[in-house]
Amino acid sequence: MDLSTLYRAVIMDNYKNPKNKGLTKGDKYHFVHLNNPSCGDDMNVEILIEDGVVKDIHHDGHGCSICCSSASVMSETLKGKNVEDAKKLIYEFYELVMGKAPEDEEELGEAIAYMGVKDFPARIKCATLSWKALEKAISEVEENGK
Ligand code: ZN
Repeated sequence: MDLSTLYRAVIMDNYKNPKNKGLTKGDKYHFVHLNNPSCGDDMNVEILIEDGVVKDIHHDGHGCSICCSSASVMSETLKGKNVEDAKKLIYEFYELVMGKAPEDEEELGEAIAYMGVKDFPARIKCATLSWKALEKAISEVEENGK
């Protein structure tokens, strides 16, 4: 099995069996909605930050396989990280899908599967939508304290 086959399997698995899907809309969670009109992707994320740690992430939405699977991978990759590490990983993911080799491949986990997106520039927005939503959620929590 070559690497691109493996990466495709990761993406399809997360598309068919998404992790952390479904919002709780709990009071402690901060909610962000973003969409990507060019593909029709629509993404909601909620995040729970406590003591500087990303305690929980959920997502819900609809769109293409790249967008929906990426939300699942994003939630698994960033959950449990402290906020600074999460922000760094979000940045590294942006670099990855634009074709830059990641600084810390290990930390990115399954997100590395989106490396091939660089060859399909129109899909970069699909891959990054949920990550952008989470980045926005983190900065809003940092500004407003929730
Ligand atoms: Zn899409």
